[in-house]
Amino acid sequence: MKLKKKNLVGGFNRYRLVITLGLAVLLPAAALIYVNFSQLRSFQRDKVLEALIKRDFQEALTLYEKKMNKAIYAKVDEARDMFPSADVEEGEKERKLDEILSRCSCFTHAFIFDGDDVAFHTQTAQHDDKDVRDEHAEMVDSYRTWFSSKQELKSLVEIVSMKPHNIYFTQAQTKRADGPTYLLTAIFLLPAEDRTVVAGVTFDPCYMKSDFFANMLDDFVKEKNAEQSGNSRAMMIYRADQMDGREIKPMVATVGWGEGKPEVSRKLDDVFRGLALGIKFEGTSVEAMGHTWIRNSFIILGFLSLMTIGGLVLTKHMVSKEMAVAKLKSDFVSNVSHELRTPLALIRLYAETLELGRITTKEKKHQYYRIIRKESERLTALINNILDFSRIEAGRKEYEFRETDIADLVRNTLDSYRYQIEQQGFAFEESIDPDLPAVRVDREAIARALVNLVNNALKYSQDEKYLGVKLYRDNGSVKLEVADHGIGIARRDQAKIFEKFYRAGDPLVHNTKGSGLGLSLVRHITEAHGGEIEVESSPGTGSKFIVSLPLVAAPAPPQVSNSNTLH
Ligand code: ADP
Repeated sequence: MKLKKKNLVGGFNRYRLVITLGLAVLLPAAALIYVNFSQLRSFQRDKVLEALIKRDFQEALTLYEKKMNKAIYAKVDEARDMFPSADVEEGEKERKLDEILSRCSCFTHAFIFDGDDVAFHTQTAQHDDKDVRDEHAEMVDSYRTWFSSKQELKSLVEIVSMKPHNIYFTQAQTKRADGPTYLLTAIFLLPAEDRTVVAGVTFDPCYMKSDFFANMLDDFVKEKNAEQSGNSRAMMIYRADQMDGREIKPMVATVGWGEGKPEVSRKLDDVFRGLALGIKFEGTSVEAMGHTWIRNSFIILGFLSLMTIGGLVLTKHMVSKEMAVAKLKSDFVSNVSHELRTPLALIRLYAETLELGRITTKEKKHQYYRIIRKESERLTALINNILDFSRIEAGRKEYEFRETDIADLVRNTLDSYRYQIEQQGFAFEESIDPDLPAVRVDREAIARALVNLVNNALKYSQDEKYLGVKLYRDNGSVKLEVADHGIGIARRDQAKIFEKFYRAGDPLVHNTKGSGLGLSLVRHITEAHGGEIEVESSPGTGSKFIVSLPLVAAPAPPQVSNSNTLH
């Protein structure tokens, strides 16, 4: 009945543990993992990240166009201020145009169209270039035709007046030694009372490509990279008519451009009509970055999930272990109280009987005295074990090592048990090597270990009552063997019997009083001496415990530390 109740309690606790782990930890952890995984998957689908990056690029390109426009307006404004007024003396126009060109090598041509009076000057250093000469002739021709028409001139005046800074830009394709290139001309009007005087400057295509655009792009990329971390950005300028085509050839690009299409492009308007600005990440695309990001997130999430699962398994393992120890402890308390009560009751009973003086025969009296002595010895052994145990657990157990004649120590300890052993009908074999050298041991501790082993041999023997104790030298150590022909120990229990509170599942063990502390103390004592303990046993045939103590290596002085605690 009692047993059933105990099982019920144990079962209930386990049930509660499973419920707690399941509801409070496992479910939320599983939900968290599931939600994270599915969020990641949907993230991949709706490409929020990609859209965000593209929007950011688009905004950046709008800003960069404004900055380029501003810079080019500043340059033209500066040149326009140097232009002579429409009604200057003969020769002054020529002189001024040359001055403008010599001041700034960024211009290839500077010109003034005043009716039939045409002044069109070209950078002297470029006169040798045939392409430039051809360009000069072509421009003079086409501008003369354009500006000589009253109609055209009127509409030009209108357009110029509507443009920012009153400057009108024309864009054309031209040629230089390294191939076709982009020609930018700024046209404005010079103030004159009775007529329209058109003037302008043409930017040197080489300057635009390798100076103006190149520097601007470098500055933009630097600015953007400083603003935002992560992969570096690369930029380029190309012909806008390539925008929808398959192949895009950069006209100017930053160093890290490499290959490939821009992530985002902007068709430039007004000043740089015909050109497009492109931006992307160096060496990667937004899509690839998105994939990498998703893959890394999956890896991290997978790793965290594994850690969570590992943590849960570990927690369950630890809690189960703690529960097992708690159960062992409660068994221990009931075992010990039982063990204390029985000898005390016997001692009291026999002492009272003797006190009453009813026992007359000498033999009976002796028998009673013996029982009282035996039971008090059992009590003392138990209490010593408990005291030792509590000292070891608190890390306060200290050993006092002294040079000892170990043969003498073992013989004396056995002598005080000999009578009890034989009384119980045990065949007792003792084999002690008399020529053993002195060993440094804690006498009390070694005696207690031996008593525990002998007591176990007596307790766990049934039909064949045999006890054998051997002490001999084996290479560098002294071996103490305690053997019996008792119930033996199953293989699976053999490693565990040295743990505190552990008692084997055999029914005889349960019917025998015990605390489960004896062997754990024997192991602690042996290890404190730098030795080790082994067991050889098989169920039904008996057990042999072998304690080896090193002969030479004197054990280190005992230290008070928690490493003393029992396992
Ligand atoms: P206790 O004897 O108080 O239960 P011990 O720590 O001395 O505690 O022993 C632990 C367990 O090892 C015992 O409960 C028993 O199952 C087993 N054991 C110890 N010595 C023997 C032995 N000589 N023969 C069979 N089983 C033994």
